[in-house]
Amino acid sequence: MTSPPLGLYIHIPFCRQRCDFCAFYLEIYREHRAKTLVRFLMHEIRLSAQQHVIANRPVQSVYFGGGTPTVLATTQLIAILSEVRTHFTLTSDCEITVEAHPSTISSQGLTQLLQAGVTRISFGAESMEDGDLARIGRPGAVSDTVTAVTRARAAGFTNINLDVMYGLPGQSLEGWQRTLAHCLVLEPTHLSCYALTVEQDTKLASNIQRQRSPAPDEGLQIEMDEAAQRILGDAGHQRYEVSNYAKLGYVCRHNLLYWTNGEYLGLGPSAQSYLGGTRFGNVADIAAYETSLAANQLPIEDRIRLSKVEQLRDAVIFGLRLIQGIPTRHFHQHAANYGYAAVTEELLAQQLIEEDGERVRLSARGLLQADTIAGQLY
Ligand code: SF4
Repeated sequence: MTSPPLGLYIHIPFCRQRCDFCAFYLEIYREHRAKTLVRFLMHEIRLSAQQHVIANRPVQSVYFGGGTPTVLATTQLIAILSEVRTHFTLTSDCEITVEAHPSTISSQGLTQLLQAGVTRISFGAESMEDGDLARIGRPGAVSDTVTAVTRARAAGFTNINLDVMYGLPGQSLEGWQRTLAHCLVLEPTHLSCYALTVEQDTKLASNIQRQRSPAPDEGLQIEMDEAAQRILGDAGHQRYEVSNYAKLGYVCRHNLLYWTNGEYLGLGPSAQSYLGGTRFGNVADIAAYETSLAANQLPIEDRIRLSKVEQLRDAVIFGLRLIQGIPTRHFHQHAANYGYAAVTEELLAQQLIEEDGERVRLSARGLLQADTIAGQLY
């Protein structure tokens, strides 16, 4: 039996500045730090490819995330991709995504990425209102996003994502609707709409605690979520996951792996992997990452082998984020495994989940409470 394709996630842990809401593992970009990191990342690619569980597995997607991958020189990103191609077998239709901060990419860089085989570019727009960007400490301006998308299209990219956030401090429903409308003018093929969450130990959390910034209003976020579904749906973007919308044929194949219990290998500091029923993660520390690789050891710090019951649990929890839902028998088997019959009945009675004999999925109201429902079923 041939093994199903897997995805590669490559974490570039640098940004020019930390946004107020961000809790990701990263360092502020320094040219010499990045140069060294890229050298070790290449080594990790070579070492990882020698693992027997992934030898000869076709790779269906490569995703450069971060951090901000495009703080690296384009030549560095292309060198990393070239190393991946040398040691892994990419499928002929492999989706290759690069996340980019709009103010960190030039026309020339975009053209070079396209020529190197990058098929999808994902811009972190966050908002199309400059006031919103200022209030979350996000560097750059709306005009940078407009310029970046225009340049990407001129370079030849046909698959362009915009990440946007709602429930930002001071953001009104009307402001969010204007952001969506402005995004649509740019004609992205994919939009990711994330509700702002306040992570511990961020500047935003501290600002809220000191009452310098308002806490997110859950009721308003629900209205914003409904507005996104309506506005983007009217524009031909189909919602296929709680936070993701795409034109027909443009769902993100890499992210789909996460929600369909697919397998992926994470490379770079703090990157997470799921292979052969085992979840594991790289150390979230650049120095420790490099020390490990210098000793020819993969920089893995956590490794959890999941039982069949736990694998099904994760497939149910992640799969319910998809609009298409999950097979009914998987859902009920999971409920039986964990003694969740009463929880299931309550979710059905409250019409938060729907069942049609074949599949179980979140209802329109359930989508607004996806994280809470996931917590109840975990
Ligand atoms: S650009 Fe993205 S990864 Fe970097 S600090 Fe801002 S939110 Fe975090």
